[in-house]
Amino acid sequence: MNAPASQAVLAPTVKLLINGQLVESKTTQWRNVVNPATQEVLARVPFATPEEINLAVSSAKEAFKTWKKTPIGTRARIFLKLQQLIRENMKELAAILTAEQGKTLPDAEGDVFRGLEVVEHAANIGTLQLGELANNVANGVDTYTLNQPLGVCAGITPFNFPAMIPLWMFPMAIATGNTFVLKPSEQDPMVTMRLCELALEAGVPPGVLNVIHGGEDAVNAICDHPDIKAISFVGSTKVGTHVYNRASLNGKRVQCMMGAKNHAIVLPDANKEQSLNALAGAAFGAAGQRCMALSVVVLVGEARNWIPELVAKAKTLKVSGGTEAGTDVGPVVSCAALSRVESLIERGIADGAKLELDGRKPQVAGYEKGNFVGPTIFSGVKPGMSVYDQEIFGPVLCIAEAADIDEAIAFINANPNGNGTAIFTQSGAAARKFQEEIDVGQVGINVPIPVPVPLFSFTGSRASKLGDLGPYGKQVVMFYTQTKTVTARWFDDSTTSHGVNTTISL
Ligand code: NAD
Repeated sequence: MNAPASQAVLAPTVKLLINGQLVESKTTQWRNVVNPATQEVLARVPFATPEEINLAVSSAKEAFKTWKKTPIGTRARIFLKLQQLIRENMKELAAILTAEQGKTLPDAEGDVFRGLEVVEHAANIGTLQLGELANNVANGVDTYTLNQPLGVCAGITPFNFPAMIPLWMFPMAIATGNTFVLKPSEQDPMVTMRLCELALEAGVPPGVLNVIHGGEDAVNAICDHPDIKAISFVGSTKVGTHVYNRASLNGKRVQCMMGAKNHAIVLPDANKEQSLNALAGAAFGAAGQRCMALSVVVLVGEARNWIPELVAKAKTLKVSGGTEAGTDVGPVVSCAALSRVESLIERGIADGAKLELDGRKPQVAGYEKGNFVGPTIFSGVKPGMSVYDQEIFGPVLCIAEAADIDEAIAFINANPNGNGTAIFTQSGAAARKFQEEIDVGQVGINVPIPVPVPLFSFTGSRASKLGDLGPYGKQVVMFYTQTKTVTARWFDDSTTSHGVNTTISL
């Protein structure tokens, strides 16, 4: 957005994917995709017209007629091929991701890899989508279930994991027999598009996977479209709540994974070196732009004396462009994100939190125009301060203190969010107490970012989630299918007829 107009005009356009074709949008509304480390305009992304959105949905609806009947093995084999293509193209995917999103190259590979794991899981769809059968529920009667696809499903994704989160969605939806319309983040749609191209190369038939681009209008069109049966959303709490309400009112199945404020408890018996390393990595990695970033640490008892060492660790992290070797903290995604983070730091100071480490306006040689903010640490943070109440989504760690584990657990449970949390301790009893009493959907025990692998599902809770089933894993198979329960009796010629029966029995 900040680049000279001439640069923008020369930039390539991001295509829509409709009915198996990559097509140029006819829209008049475009947005620049900008490298956050340099402000270079990488591409221009269209805001699809209502006609183009309708075309994407109608091609998905048409494709569903045959895709839903495509054999399990055929569907699964496409995802076996896709996982191979993603592995072969890992470096290219990571490079695109780093250029448009900013995270470091190794972290970008991690982003792709965590999505790849879902693709691998989708390739096993036959065993995941099995129904159940009960033999002889009455005389000569069996009951069994079919887990059938819903139809056209849609996904709306955020900027912070432009590979992993689209891969949470379309592989599982398509593998279970649905067709899909994806609306990636307009801030960094390029790696998502490359993954969709690989999906076509892997054999996803025309119309089964479609991509439209845009912002609010495109999202509202998805919420309102009568032919879309289910929506998976990942993004902020404000937008997710809107999507949940609007799409639910339209009778759709909706799941929304939303904002967070993830707390870690550090008990004084924790392994100090390991815990401080984990905290610094989880707070400042990806420039704090992870929904599972640890943004609040509650130091219990004597652990409150560890602040200087935590600050010292944070100071060792290298802030630079994501393509530079050894970079720990890349830029935040946009100029707007940078000014938001900086203004929240100012609010933190004004609210009376103690600024232990100020990461504002770092000197980053070679990347003078980048959206950088270095690791920042506040201590003495309390509810009521903006830095505590809001999700900062930048490399800012807030430190609070508690006298004991009970006080620390009560502190976390009083926060409305429930995405992730962690405890650092050597005590099994303390860890088990935490696991039992904490009201947060994803819990780490000496694990700072406990994102479940796809054998499980992502299980954020409370204000971080709307809808009852999670993305990927077993839960999403239920989300993307309708259970049909069949109760069957077969007569043979020897079956004695007992005449008309007007009771409810089988
Ligand atoms: P966002 O809510 O701004 O955008 C998400 C999607 O909604 C994008 O596709 C965007 O185009 C669309 N959108 C934006 N504004 C809209 C509006 N007014 N009306 C309708 N649609 C709109 O989120 P973001 O900034 O891209 O991502 C960061 C947020 O996502 C953070 O809050 C983070 O915690 C959250 N997140 C949550 C999870 C999770 O699993 N819980 C995972 C990743 C990110």
